[in-house]
Amino acid sequence: MRIGNYDGRLVLAAGTAVIDVEEASGHRFDADPAAIYTRWEEFTAWAGSTGLPPGRPFVRELLGPPSPAPSQIFAIGLNYHAHVAETHRTAPEGFPVVFTKFASSLTGPVSTVELPADGHTDWELELVVVIGRAGSHIPEEAAWQHVAGLTAGQDLSERILQRMGPVPQFSLGKSYPGFAPTGPWLVTPDEFADPDDIELRCWLDGEQVQADTTANMIFSVPRLIHLLSGVTPLRPGDLVFSGTPSGVGLGREPQRFIAPGEVLVSRIAGVGELEQRFVASQR
Ligand code: ZN
Repeated sequence: MRIGNYDGRLVLAAGTAVIDVEEASGHRFDADPAAIYTRWEEFTAWAGSTGLPPGRPFVRELLGPPSPAPSQIFAIGLNYHAHVAETHRTAPEGFPVVFTKFASSLTGPVSTVELPADGHTDWELELVVVIGRAGSHIPEEAAWQHVAGLTAGQDLSERILQRMGPVPQFSLGKSYPGFAPTGPWLVTPDEFADPDDIELRCWLDGEQVQADTTANMIFSVPRLIHLLSGVTPLRPGDLVFSGTPSGVGLGREPQRFIAPGEVLVSRIAGVGELEQRFVASQR
């Protein structure tokens, strides 16, 4: 099953059409996409059993973030060995590097992003996990049962602010407006041949800059859910940006950062594409 946020309303995706959930369910489910995660099992049972009406066509520009109001956004650093190597750091052992992206940075999949003035803005394509069932101390074997679905995300990062000061401060430099595009759909884990092996690719102005599979994560999705939920309870609608593969601008020689006018296309197999167009700072 694929669901989306279409102009602020919860929809089911059906090919090139979307079906409004509030209308199709006779108002059993609310139109607010953020509200569905607390009723996830009831919702998926309904969506799987009901005869759905035909959908209506949609435009990508009106898609919003599939989970627009998460209570927590976790983001994982240094979760692919090749990315650890390109950043000249050492791989984490035992526990991942965890930070947050503030919720005000969330947008839908197609957006225009203003580059911070005098910044070095970089790309980081990531598989994003959306939690569907609350839990603490979730065993690794049960972790997928707590996942509503998967979506694509860009962990856009302004590297100067991120690395300023006596210790890196990841969260602010990764939370400028528009720095967390997600979408286009939330896709349930059963739709993937292997949800632990999903291909990610992204292109900056047509040049492929990242290509890998989530099978190469240091901490897998189940391991991340187990470790995070051992510290803080996970809640329906929460997001986990699961880390980026190699190929970011910071790790290239020479380094490359996003320039005004450039377009970033990010694709996750089985999920779909993000498309960000960048403009110069307006301040
Ligand atoms: Zn990241």
